[in-house]
This record gives sequence, structure tokens and C-alpha cells, in this order.
Amino acid sequence: MTWTERQQRMLREMGLVVWQPPGAAAPAAEPAPAPAVVAAPAARAPAPAPAPAPVAAPAPAARNEAAPLADEERRARIATLDWPALREAVAACTACELCRTRKQTVFGVGHPQAQWMVVGEAPGEQEDLQGEPFVGAAGQLLDSMLRALSLTRAADGAQPPPAQRVYIANTLKCRPPRNRNPEAAEMQACEPFLIRQIELLRPRLILAMGRFAVQALLRSSEPVGKLRGRVHRYQGVPLVVTYHPAYLLRNLPDKAKAWDDLCLAAGVAEAVEAV
Ligand code: URA
Repeated sequence: MTWTERQQRMLREMGLVVWQPPGAAAPAAEPAPAPAVVAAPAARAPAPAPAPAPVAAPAPAARNEAAPLADEERRARIATLDWPALREAVAACTACELCRTRKQTVFGVGHPQAQWMVVGEAPGEQEDLQGEPFVGAAGQLLDSMLRALSLTRAADGAQPPPAQRVYIANTLKCRPPRNRNPEAAEMQACEPFLIRQIELLRPRLILAMGRFAVQALLRSSEPVGKLRGRVHRYQGVPLVVTYHPAYLLRNLPDKAKAWDDLCLAAGVAEAVEAV
């Protein structure tokens, strides 16, 4: 097998050694996007994004039974906010216990008109300190993966063209103490913020990294390994599932699968019309 220039760059960025048989030349032109994209009928013509995500399904988090009305009202209010107001609402949020232990909220980073949206799990220690998602070791790997596709979270300075812009957000906007897993009630409380971010961004493609992003967006408790490799939908937006970068740091062999997922996502992003 030979690799295109782009494939080789991505493999290198992800720390995978590229072996080429002697004399093997890379094809002059890049092949068409990953076949899985072409095969995925949903990827070409996304339905217009309808109203906010369904709020009736309780999985994975149970509704706040003590104050269902207040919960509904809060969700409805968040669903009307514009970007600056949403950012302020996140910064002031006290809807769950995480507000007691966080240093600051972590809203997200990137261009508000990004075509890609990456959704991770929750801020860790560094993110809590710096107020930006994915700034630790997992973030470095994520940035390398994005760079391999000529994508960037940078939103200022030299403005990247729209197709290269990525917005990165987490399922939770506050750090769980000692980096424990998000709890159902926390995910439930934070969900309206992510829903609204996606509505306002209207990305062409969502990359859901790790099981908590998958739970939040697909309401599925299936393992990532079972959901990756095909195109899902979130409110009409094509969604590709892949491993969380922190998992990849511990499970190097799965980097190759993550690379496949990124190729799939890149093919979808190129193929779809703006939602
Ligand atoms: N892991 C995440 O999922 N998000 C971050 O912001 C940092 C680490």
C-alpha cells in the first residue's frame, strides 16, 4: 500500500511511523474522500437543523425531578441566547455542584463560524486554570491531528479560511474534581449549553471524541469502538465518532483507527453543503 502526501503527514503528526516499500511512489493526485463517506447517504444532503435537541429522552442523565418546570424554563431560556449571552450564562452557571470546585468555566475555543466542531469530555486541571479546552497533553495530540488536516482552533491573527476553522467545546463546561468522570446530573445540567453552541455554530461536521461526547450527542451508551467508522447525525449535522485523545495517549495502536476516523470526517466535511 502507498500513502498520499496528506496521509503521510497525518500519520507523522499522530506519531505513527510510515513505512514505504522501496521504490514505492505516492500517487500524484489524492484519492477521493474515504469510501465510507461516499457510501453514507446521510452525509451529502443534511436536513435543515430543526428545533433544539429533543429534551424528552432522559438518557444518559435523569431529569431534575424536584424542579422540572424550572429545568424546562432554564432550557428554553438558554435556547434563545446569542453567542455573547451564552458565554456569559456559562460563566455564571451554578446549575450543578461543579460550580463550587471550578476555578473558571471553559466555554470553548475557535472561530464562531467554524465548519468543524470537536466535542470532548470535560476540562481537566490545565483547562480549568487556563479557561480553554484541550490545552494539556491530550490537547497537544488533538492539535497535531487537526494540523495534519490543515485545521486549526486559531480564530484570531491570520484568519484561517472557513474550511480550516475548528471550534472545540466540551460536554461539561466545568472541571469535575480530580478529573473524575462526568456524572449524569452534571451532563444533564450542562447539556443546554452544548445544544445552543451547536445551533449557533451550525457546523458542517461534528467530531465526537470519547464516550461522554457520544452519550451527550447520540444518547448512546455503545462503546466508541462500535460507533466509529460511520456517519451519524446530530440535529441534521453529520457526526463522526472517534476515540478521545487522552485514551489514544494510553492506547497507541488505536491511533491508526483515529486516523481513519479523521479521514472519514474530512471526507464528510468536504462533501456536505453548509447546513
Ligand atoms: N479532555 C477533554 O475532554 N476536554 C478538555 O478540555 C481537556 C481534556
